Amino acid sequence: MNSRSGQTGGKPAIAGGGLTLVTVPIGTANDITLRALDVLREADVLAAEDTRSLRKLMDIHGIPLGDRPLVAYHDHNGDRTRPRLMAALEAGQSVAYASEAGTPLIADPGYDLALAAREAGYKVTAAPGVSAVVTALSLAGLPTDRFLFAGFLPNATKARRDQLGLLGAVPATLVFYESPKRLDKMLGDAAQVLGGDRIGVVARELTKKFEEIRRGPLEELASHYKENGAKGEIVVLIEPGKPTSANQSEILDALKSELDAGQSVRDATDAVTQDSGWPRRKVYQLALELTRG
Ligand code: SAM
Repeated sequence: MNSRSGQTGGKPAIAGGGLTLVTVPIGTANDITLRALDVLREADVLAAEDTRSLRKLMDIHGIPLGDRPLVAYHDHNGDRTRPRLMAALEAGQSVAYASEAGTPLIADPGYDLALAAREAGYKVTAAPGVSAVVTALSLAGLPTDRFLFAGFLPNATKARRDQLGLLGAVPATLVFYESPKRLDKMLGDAAQVLGGDRIGVVARELTKKFEEIRRGPLEELASHYKENGAKGEIVVLIEPGKPTSANQSEILDALKSELDAGQSVRDATDAVTQDSGWPRRKVYQLALELTRG
């Protein structure tokens, strides 16, 4: 452990080596905690998903790197780089690991490193701070007593719809990370699978100059972003699934009456999914069985 200054309440930020997972801001450089700054100032070895952005953050906060190593550690080189960081821990050094933005391991690398360090018996701790998922939840105006963070949905339409179908009935606010390029498609799929009138929130550019929270039925959000496009970093939140008390024979009856009224299998499925809160995948299977006789 080196002897750089920077103490928190009289205690060194990292005593006795080990790994500290350091949370960095998601947009505004001053959102870093005082303890995270101490850890960055004191660690023997720094590791970062993106070394340039960590250097920049340290420059902003007047923290010199000095002669300390700054190691790039990300998804593509983790297996090669981990032994070097483990060797530093073995030598009794303190290692600080930071993501490019927000909290390490939250839709970001660090899981294998933290696990390896813990399994090898080293101290693993965190200098916690902001994460886009929690910031979005606090601003969205949706229930926060229970939420399910599902990270990024798959790129392929079918896989994305299947995932949405699996999550649709969960009685918790759903939280996704999404790219601006896919936002309108993701919202369109969500409207189709979960129901166009289910409420969604798009939380964009959190903590930055153009921060925006847009709330509305999924169908409206989908057409807004289809028309206007989207820029920046995005979290999508969807209100909790409705608890359902409908049983299978009620679902079948509802499907029959939709189909008898001339609705397509897809439209009948959407209508019954919305009314019942049942997972769309199951409703669709029942509708197919009905049409096949
Ligand atoms: N580790 C980060 C965290 O704790 O939030 C997340 C990293 S993940 C690779 C990047 C994604 O997080 C972005 O594509 C976006 O979905 C979300 N995100 C990060 N910063 C954001 C911000 N300022 N506003 C909205 N979403 C953000």
